Amino acid sequence: MNIKKKKRQIAENRVDYLSSEIEKSLKHNHNLAEIQAKQARDFSKKFNIKSGFSQRMLFCHKCKRFIVPGFNSRIRLSKIRKSINITCLHCGFTYRKMRI
Ligand SMILES: [Zn+2]
Repeated sequence: MNIKKKKRQIAENRVDYLSSEIEKSLKHNHNLAEIQAKQARDFSKKFNIKSGFSQRMLFCHKCKRFIVPGFNSRIRLSKIRKSINITCLHCGFTYRKMRI
């Protein structure tokens, strides 16, 4: 295994660990959760780690802040467009995830 792959694997582990820590710290310390989320995002950007939809959904597409459904983001189902509408309550930006 070369160094690049190894670095990426370490970063992947780190992102996994951070995302489990985020869930824990969300309950009592939102600032800490935001810092951890930012770090996880920086790692996955730097090492080109693909994150799943459930992880990508936690970041606003416009202001790139960490958003939690029910806390600072709103999720609605649209009957007309057959989509999930996710609204960031920081900047008010709405983005849609189409249902298949
Ligand atoms: Zn936003």
